[in-house]
This record gives sequence, structure tokens and C-alpha cells, in this order.
Amino acid sequence: MNTSALGRIALATGITVLSAGLLPATAHADDAVVERRTLPVLVEFADSSFQDAAAVKASTPDTYFGAKKDSLASFFSELSRGKYRVVPAVDEQYVGPVKLSMAAACDYGEINTQTQKALAERGLVRGEDYDSLSMVFPAQKTGCDWAGLGSVPGPYTWINLYGTAGGLGVVGHEFGHNLGLGHQMRSMCTDGDLVDCKENGTSAKSMMGGGGTAAGISAPEMIRADWLADSEKVKVAKSGTYTLRSLHGDGNGIRALDIPMGEDRLVVEYRHAAGSFDQDIEGVHAYRVPKVNYGSSTLIDMTEANKTAGNEAPADADADAITSVIDRASKVSVAVVASGGGRAEVKVSLEGADLSADVDTPATAAAPAAEHTATDTDAGDGLPDKTEAQGNADETASATADSADLAATGGDSNTVPIAAGGAALLLVGAGALVLMRRRERA
Ligand SMILES: [Zn+2]
Repeated sequence: MNTSALGRIALATGITVLSAGLLPATAHADDAVVERRTLPVLVEFADSSFQDAAAVKASTPDTYFGAKKDSLASFFSELSRGKYRVVPAVDEQYVGPVKLSMAAACDYGEINTQTQKALAERGLVRGEDYDSLSMVFPAQKTGCDWAGLGSVPGPYTWINLYGTAGGLGVVGHEFGHNLGLGHQMRSMCTDGDLVDCKENGTSAKSMMGGGGTAAGISAPEMIRADWLADSEKVKVAKSGTYTLRSLHGDGNGIRALDIPMGEDRLVVEYRHAAGSFDQDIEGVHAYRVPKVNYGSSTLIDMTEANKTAGNEAPADADADAITSVIDRASKVSVAVVASGGGRAEVKVSLEGADLSADVDTPATAAAPAAEHTATDTDAGDGLPDKTEAQGNADETASATADSADLAATGGDSNTVPIAAGGAALLLVGAGALVLMRRRERA
């Protein structure tokens, strides 16, 4: 169990760059599709090779681009409902194994530098020939205590590979970091008011917390990824009762309420089994979004009864579901009027209209049309985000600088173009988070 993962998330000092398609503040058409040309590179060290290179080569296209549900491409296609496409950057779908001159070490900055250099020698330049670079290397001698690493946001993932295939549990999570998502923590606010909350482990409602890929990502993270259309995310400007449909799955309706709460936002969602997601999640959930950073949301848990250990998925589907949330400081309250069967009714009061009202146990909503038929739990979901290791800020900064230098040979070193849209570039002020994911030894 890990109770202070947030404290071990390193904030690097480097400046990073984000393409327009990944930034929710950048308006674009609801039907815009972002296409990421993704390049998995099999990397070997001077003194360490894949034990079964043929098997790694055979598995890599399936892991990233395969038609099965547990490929990265299929996973993001379903989760984004077609808004985000992971496509191969090269016909062969991967490159390598590429032999680096360095001895095996967990120096991800140097691995990145040498890999990009080797790719450039093959005529492959980041920004011109590929958008996302995923470095897959044999774990036996690296000494890394993580299974994967991803830049937040950004184009880089590192997979410290044991065995012959990267699982979606690791690869999906790291690519989630590339979308600008940090780790989703949980805040226990058991006295009924958000004024007094304590961090307690990770959220089980997101693969960026402890939920695994079967949870997909939560509403604030969907907003951060820009995967909700304007009609699906309502910026609540006045008190009222709103009907929510499930966050995931096909169909129309409101998937997220985005409520002003002082300088922060309160995002409310309704979760219900849909497609590959949320077979074990049910109910209305609330998240605090600091300032407007939707990639750094925290699950708000008001339930005294649920003291599930921080990183363990709760046994009950509706654990962590809210019936009401009150934030007296900002005079905001939310009450679940009805919830169940695929939809929820949520009453939102601004300006302190309802702060003293008792909230009854919500009724069960009438069942709407059935969602997707349940599908098997994601096979790649076997690796919960148990523990996190701290990234080294200096190394992170140097990794950024190194890659920028190398990319400069191909033009604007900061360019992370996307196929869809004009990709206006925006500098994100000091904040390249590099988050690590410790390998879980079964
Ligand atoms: Zn992580």
C-alpha cells in the first residue's frame, strides 16, 4: 500500500510543449479527431538484449496497434469514442531492436537521447516522422524500479520490459500521462464538508489512480484529454437539476457537470457499466480540480463507511459514490436526487441556496435504454497502480533538453505536431511532470 504517492510525484523544472489538440482550453470542433503517429522502438543495451527478441517483435504490433480490445489503439479509440487515434508511424509498426552504445542503466534521459539519435540515423525524426516515441527495453539489467514511465504531457514513454510483451495496464497508463494526466489521488472528506479533507491513497475510478484500465479515466480527465464535446460537459452557471448519462459508452447526453467552486472546479460524473468500462463501478462521483488543471483532479470520498485501503479497488461497485457534497467555503452544494440503471439526476446549488438542506438517500432512477452488453474485463488490467516512484527532476529536465536538441535537426525542436488541425503550439509554464510507475512484482 502506498499512502503518499502524491508526495513522490516529481515536479521538474523544465518547460514542456503541448500540441493544440491535447489542450482543452483550445477550442476546436467537437468532431475533431486527433491522430498520434506512434513509434514503438525496441531498444537493447551494449550489455543486455531481449531474452526472446523474436517474441518481443511479434508482440509489439499487437500491444500498440492490434485489433483486440487490449491494444493501446483499441483502448484509446473506445475510451475517446473515436476522438483519439493511435496509429503506427512506420509500416512495420515498430523499429528495432536498436542497439545502444550505453550499458544497461535506468538512465531514461540517456536512453531517450541515444534512441532518438539512432532513429535519426534511420531517417526518422520526431515531429516529422512520428509524434509519440515509446522506448521498450529489456528490464533485466536496468535497475529501474518501475515498469513504465511517461512524460506529462508529452511524447515519451519508457517501458522497462520483463517477459515478451508490454501489457495495457502499463502502456495505457503511461500514455495517459502523455495526455497530460497526473496520478489521480483520493481525498477523504467524511464530515460532509469539503473544508476538511485528507488525502488517502489513489482513486479507483481511473487507470491514473488505482482503478486499472477497466476504469478508463474519470470525467475531469476526459475533459483534460478533450474527449468530451461541449454538449457533454456542462459548465454549471446557475442552480438547477441536471440529468447525467454514464460517463463512458455511446449515446448522447450530459456526461460531466463542471461546477465553479472558489478558485477550483468541482466535476461530477455518473459511472455505469458501458462497453469495456466500468463493469465494477456504479454511481455519482465528485472530483476537485485545482484551479483549471483538469489533469490533476482528486476523487472526493464523502463516505465514512468506505475506508478501503488507498490503492485497493473497493469491493462494492458503488463505493466512493456520493449522495451529497457541500463546500461551505464556496457556497456550493451537490445532491444526488436519483441514481441507477444508466442515469442520474443531480441537483446543484450555487450561492449557498441549499447548504442547510438535508439530503435524503437518492432514489433509484428509472432504467433507461440498456447500455452496451457487458464485455470481458480487460486482460491488461492486471497491474494496478500500486506504488509510484519519484522522478528525478534534474534527469527529467535534461531528458527534455536532450530530446529538444536532437529534434532541432528536423526543424522546430518544440513541435509536437498532430495530424488533425493546425497544431498551434502553446508553451505550458514550468511543469513537466515525469511520473513513474513502479513495477509490481506479483
Ligand atoms: Zn504513473
